[in-house]
Amino acid sequence: KTVKTGWHLDDSYARLPKMFFTKIKPSGVASPSLITLNNPLASFLGLTEKDLRSEEGLAILAGNKVPEGSLPLAQAYAGHQFGHFTMLGDGRALLIGEQITPFGERYDLQLKGSGPTPYSRGGDGRAALGPMLREYIISEAMYALGIPTTRCLSVVTTGESVIRETNLDGAILTRVAASHLRVGTFQYIANWGTVEDLRTLADYTLNRHFVDVEAKENPYLFLLQEVIKRQAQLIAKWQLVGFVHGVMNTDNMSISGETIDYGPCAFIDAYNPATVFSSIDRGGRYAYGNQPHIARWNLARFAETLLPLLHPNPSEAIKLAETEVLKFSNLYQDNWVKGMKSKLGMFDDEVGDDLLINELLKMMENAHADYTNTFCALTFNRPQDTSIYDLPEFVSWHSRWQERRSKQKQSKVQSDQLMRDSNPAVIPRNHRVEEALEAAVRYKDYRVMERLLSVLSSPYAHNIDQTGYYTLPSPSDRPYQTYC
Ligand code: AMP
Ligand code: MG
Ligand code: MG
Repeated sequence: KTVKTGWHLDDSYARLPKMFFTKIKPSGVASPSLITLNNPLASFLGLTEKDLRSEEGLAILAGNKVPEGSLPLAQAYAGHQFGHFTMLGDGRALLIGEQITPFGERYDLQLKGSGPTPYSRGGDGRAALGPMLREYIISEAMYALGIPTTRCLSVVTTGESVIRETNLDGAILTRVAASHLRVGTFQYIANWGTVEDLRTLADYTLNRHFVDVEAKENPYLFLLQEVIKRQAQLIAKWQLVGFVHGVMNTDNMSISGETIDYGPCAFIDAYNPATVFSSIDRGGRYAYGNQPHIARWNLARFAETLLPLLHPNPSEAIKLAETEVLKFSNLYQDNWVKGMKSKLGMFDDEVGDDLLINELLKMMENAHADYTNTFCALTFNRPQDTSIYDLPEFVSWHSRWQERRSKQKQSKVQSDQLMRDSNPAVIPRNHRVEEALEAAVRYKDYRVMERLLSVLSSPYAHNIDQTGYYTLPSPSDRPYQTYC
């Protein structure tokens, strides 16, 4: 079989009912320049250097030309932002098409920062270079950590300024996603469409993401169950690496189960469930420790949109929806405990494991211990390197943990390997990301970012290249704040 490369764009979304989107071309920019191109991702998509690095390729990534087969459109959606329901939609992004990869998989290609749309609500439709490079770095780090995520194909500068508090270099990011279907997409159709529109959306979603649906007696219940299952897996993975999304509005929760919308997100250093980075999250709604609760809240909003499809009798529909949403907490907890056990080198289940895990986290919180480095220190048997080592309760905890590990049928060597595979040595530390962005944006020096990207691409390697990337920020770097 010959593998076809080049643009192979389908437009299944553009064939949905008119209310789902607005057809609109990217605005175009003055003077595009390629800043970073994701070569492995490009090959995965079947796109070549010629497709992307040529003059025509650059014009496509900048929105100055649309590739063959593209019917660009802005998607309509709604969402609860910090708990308040509102109409939204792609205000500064356009779907340029669905690339069919050489393996026959379908991925949305979206330009972010490509100009205003009917959903811009007074915004300029543009993006600045710093935040787009930040999305590139953090989403690639998430991918390498093994966490489902949208990815970035490229960032180009536009040769135009965007006006924020100051004038900044404008940029366009090309985002690659399994789809851009969101909880907010369902909320939009459920609120302003007919039941038939809703069924069309649900069938489209099932067809696109949940292929083994034919056998299901109630496909819409199956859809709800699968979305809940994927989110339970995703949020557990976030918690296990210390990722704070920062803006878990329902429009930023993807139906496919990918992490989407890298605005004010950041990773924790010291373990503290109350950690908030986003400057606008004053109430801590989206704090690190609150993410599982918010996920369940968002999934309840998703379940509500499906009520007319779940059962002809409304009270039966509510019963079905409630039963499924209530399962989220246990599903999440199971995923999280399983992940925590791997981080601690434990293969099986024993009475007292939950206590062992929770005692460790309590010690980390009390000692302001660095989350990532503490797990690495335990992995490499260097407990003296952690601040929990000085706590009076540490000795007892450590001996109980060692005894617990020696009781399983797997060897110490296997347990050590499990820990190395489950505890990343490097995460995109805030001060490292800032340093890379400063060099790139202020001095047009992209080497710091390239080096960071390279280290972040193998977080579980535990090798010499990572030296220096575990270092904590100096006290002057704290507290870290992020902006949308
Ligand atoms: P977010 O907080 O990133 O999820 O964005 C919320 C909404 O604001 C979405 O509808 C975005 O498309 C829109 N938006 C964000 N920035 C801009 C901008 N500069 N111009 C127009 N719309 C924007
Ligand atoms: Mg968003
Ligand atoms: Mg955003």
